[in-house]
Amino acid sequence: MLRIRCPHCGERDEVEFRYRGDAGRVRPASDAGLGAFNSYVFERENPRGWHLEWWLHVGGCRRLLKVSRHTVTHEIADVKDAEA
Ligand SMILES: [Zn+2]
Repeated sequence: MLRIRCPHCGERDEVEFRYRGDAGRVRPASDAGLGAFNSYVFERENPRGWHLEWWLHVGGCRRLLKVSRHTVTHEIADVKDAEA
């Protein structure tokens, strides 16, 4: 089980959080074309190593957090509030 250190609530179990997606994705410009939006919506990377992710603390402060997690070891290097 993951232990995530929320900057507002302290270290909590993974069950209090919901994964909300890849935090490294950038929405294409409005004139980028259908192919770029198709890729943005439907295609995902499956990285091996460090990955930036959105996690929502639904069982605590209900804040959106940006988490740097290693996808193999599940080590968490950094947790920040999304607005920080
Ligand atoms: Zn929290």
